[in-house]
Amino acid sequence: MSALLTSRDPRDGSVLAEYPIAGADEVTAAVERAASAARWWADQGFDGRREWLLDYKAAIARGADELAALISAETGKPREDALLEVMLAVEHLDWSARNAGKVLGRRSVPTGLLGSNQKATVGYRPYGVVGVIGPWNYPVFTPMGSIAYALAAGNAVVFKPSELTPGVGRWLAETFDALSPVAPVLQTITGDGATGAALCRAEIGKLAFTGSTATAKKVMATCAENLTPVVAECGGKDAMIVDADADLDAAARFAVFGGLGNAGQTCVGVERIYVHQLVAEDFTARLTELAARVRVGDSDADDYGPMTMPGQAEQVREQVDQALAAGARARLGGAGSVDGDRISPIVLTDVPADQPAVTEETFGPLIVVQQVRDMDEAVAAANSSRYGLGASVFTGDRRAGEALAERLEVGLVTVGSVLGFAAVAALPMGGVKDSGFGRIHGADGLREFATASSITVQRFDAPLDLLTLKRRARDMRLAVAALRLRHGRRK
Ligand code: NDP
Repeated sequence: MSALLTSRDPRDGSVLAEYPIAGADEVTAAVERAASAARWWADQGFDGRREWLLDYKAAIARGADELAALISAETGKPREDALLEVMLAVEHLDWSARNAGKVLGRRSVPTGLLGSNQKATVGYRPYGVVGVIGPWNYPVFTPMGSIAYALAAGNAVVFKPSELTPGVGRWLAETFDALSPVAPVLQTITGDGATGAALCRAEIGKLAFTGSTATAKKVMATCAENLTPVVAECGGKDAMIVDADADLDAAARFAVFGGLGNAGQTCVGVERIYVHQLVAEDFTARLTELAARVRVGDSDADDYGPMTMPGQAEQVREQVDQALAAGARARLGGAGSVDGDRISPIVLTDVPADQPAVTEETFGPLIVVQQVRDMDEAVAAANSSRYGLGASVFTGDRRAGEALAERLEVGLVTVGSVLGFAAVAALPMGGVKDSGFGRIHGADGLREFATASSITVQRFDAPLDLLTLKRRARDMRLAVAALRLRHGRRK
């Protein structure tokens, strides 16, 4: 019998349930089942899968209350936050189901002069089985960014949720099963890091990982053993940029939501703010005033709950302690804001740029506000991070905001709000640098879970017969003349 893992409610430590820790044999068996399910699933075609997936999204939408309660119990987040992530996940399921055929269906491409006797088409084939490893902070929205798009592309999925949120993972697979498909197209295997590693080693076609950069490196190393490709959605240290002419109230309001929502445990949460010196004091005052009103607690009426992961609060405290010792100013809260697993909002200014509070992902309700001379300095500071996931920009002029957005070395920018991209299913999501590579969501997210299959069909003999070992001198002469004519000049 396999060992068990215990899932607990972070709000009171109570035991919610126990789940098996799948070992390598169980993971292999799940992947074998998935491989045969994948054949059935691929045979459904885009239209058939669309119907299954729309049924699935409807079932999730109908069960949203039950699912949200489970998310709250396993993560400690308030019910409304949990419902919000269910809504987002359903949007993505809907979009991927409706658009997979359009994006991945076989289509003709221009042949160019050299291939003018050919018909050329490109289609996209599923990998077969995709392994998905997910984190605990958004246990539905985050893995669904891979699961929905992988399924829509025609793959079967074996999902390994975080050991902190196994119940949510199981709910997602059981809900699919309840639609009574004849094959286990979506399976959840519960377990720990070793279970995830076994999934990386199993005979999967691709591994979609969401989690920390440190674990992504381990996952890649394990996947390298079988040359299994990986898409990696990792951590971030997202910056917000606030220009002198920005609407400071709006910027402060969004900073509170983006920085403190879900207790700061958001990969694209606002962790650093670079604000123009002319308005830095004014902005910081508005931000701290709003942040001071944020309520931390265990009820659904509170703004956010306890830290989900035991030990995470200590990491936040260490960053705050270290920053204060290095000369930072606490504008709201401080190391004393950490009370067990509950952390009240903390706002620091004047933090030396080499401090972990500025350079490392905090994953807690800490916002660092730094003054800058101008927007050039803001962009340089934002880009100095080893991470490059998301960013937000606040300016008086929307076009100036878009110009700043173009200069930020990240995968996702939102101008005039925060997290705006998460709700737009057509937008690819992912980062650069230590925030990972590859994309989930949107057309790129569908292509991430398929391989291009190129076909040319010869329609008639080529006017110049070059694909022979016995080329005629005349054909070669004409081909070289055409080369010079077409490409020998820049225009
Ligand atoms: P971790 O990196 O700790 O874990 C992620 C997943 O990997 C978990 O399911 C974990 O299992 C599993 N895992 C752990 N060790 C291994 C291993 N050796 N081989 C295979 N799998 C393994 O991340 P967290 O769960 O703590 O999530 C928080 C992180 O996720 C943050 O850095 C956050 O920024 C990032 N994130 C990124 C997002 C994005 O879209 N870019 C979105 C959401 C979060 P177990 O939990 O059972 O140990």
